[in-house]
Amino acid sequence: MINRNSGFQNLSAGYLFPEIARRRKEYLASHPGAKIISLGVGNTTEPLPECIARKMSDYVLGLATKEGYSGYGDDYGLTSLRERIAEVFYPGFISGDEVFISDGAKCDIARVQTLFGSHVRVAVQDPAYPVYVDGSVIFGAAGKNNGSGYEGITYMPCIPENNFFPDLSKIQKDSLIYFCSPNNPTGAVSTKSDLKKLVDFANQNGCIIIFDAAYREFIRDESLPKSIFEIDGSRTCAIEINSFSKPAGFTGVRLGWSVVPKELRYADGSSVHQDWSRIMATLFNGASNVAQYGGLACLEPDGLAAMRSVIDYYLENAAIIKKTVEGDNFRARGAEVYFTGNSPYVWVKFPGKKSWDVFDEILDKCRVVTTPGSGFGPGGESFIRISAFGHKEDVVEACARLSSF
Ligand SMILES: *Cc1c(COP(=O)(O)O)cnc(C)c1O
Repeated sequence: MINRNSGFQNLSAGYLFPEIARRRKEYLASHPGAKIISLGVGNTTEPLPECIARKMSDYVLGLATKEGYSGYGDDYGLTSLRERIAEVFYPGFISGDEVFISDGAKCDIARVQTLFGSHVRVAVQDPAYPVYVDGSVIFGAAGKNNGSGYEGITYMPCIPENNFFPDLSKIQKDSLIYFCSPNNPTGAVSTKSDLKKLVDFANQNGCIIIFDAAYREFIRDESLPKSIFEIDGSRTCAIEINSFSKPAGFTGVRLGWSVVPKELRYADGSSVHQDWSRIMATLFNGASNVAQYGGLACLEPDGLAAMRSVIDYYLENAAIIKKTVEGDNFRARGAEVYFTGNSPYVWVKFPGKKSWDVFDEILDKCRVVTTPGSGFGPGGESFIRISAFGHKEDVVEACARLSSF
């Protein structure tokens, strides 16, 4: 018989979202017909802008004609899309051939681990988006979960006490550092000077940063960096991962990209860009052409304006949520609210309480589903994440209920 990939033996059960679903079901069983509103998951809810959907549909109909048909495309994506992404998001500092088009950020985060093998050291922000840790465990880059995290992974607490920017001195030399800004789940955005510290640390200590910028378009404060490549020195120490999922509602369409600068090197001096090209050609076969034409449509002037207005809609939801959880009833419970207006997540701390207990209490009293912060790592304990992805009327209704929490 064939042995199981030993990484799977180390992986703890996927706990967070199945457990949320279980508790929700249990609540419904004892309160039949109750209308629960979910502000729990990070899934987009608003329709695609029509100008973007129409270009995809035109392209699809073209595929039904002799002239318009095309089969496999370039493994790295349409040249026009790679160039347009470079021009719109990285003007003057990244070239089109450093951009690789994919089927989404999560898939790229998984593939990127194949570049470094199973012996690489890993450091993550704590709390963090689960794929950084779970993917590392599957690839064998971590050991068993000893209850306070996986052996071999350095957890860097990102908490109010350090303004959500970690103590870098905890990171070992030659580590892969996963870093997400604007952050899921905390909503925190690192400043330019913070990212400069991160980049300098990485360059001095042989580290590579995997920078997840999936929420960059939610940044409204012009002084905050939207890309790691805005920081001097980043071209020798960083890979950026991004996606159309959150800004354009492409969670179901599936389209993302990675940026690997040509200067990035391994310890032996060989080129990461070259290996990444090889991975994309070998393990991936190019993103959907329909999605890529959708991506091009997003980056035309009307598409960019449409994306911005959908994000504004979610940011308005977030502002409504923030105002609610800053209310007297939350303050009386000791709640501390963290939200700067640059992400779709409001992060709320209930000092001395367990995240799951707060989750249960809110579900029970308000019939609103949130996400327990502890599900994102030990550093998320005592917090809950409230998501602004939802129809405005549902958010307003949920907030009315929370006002009497
Ligand atoms: C939603 C999300 C992504 C996007 O993943 P896709 O696979 O592109 O849909 C990536 N990173 C973070 C932190 C996210 O929350």
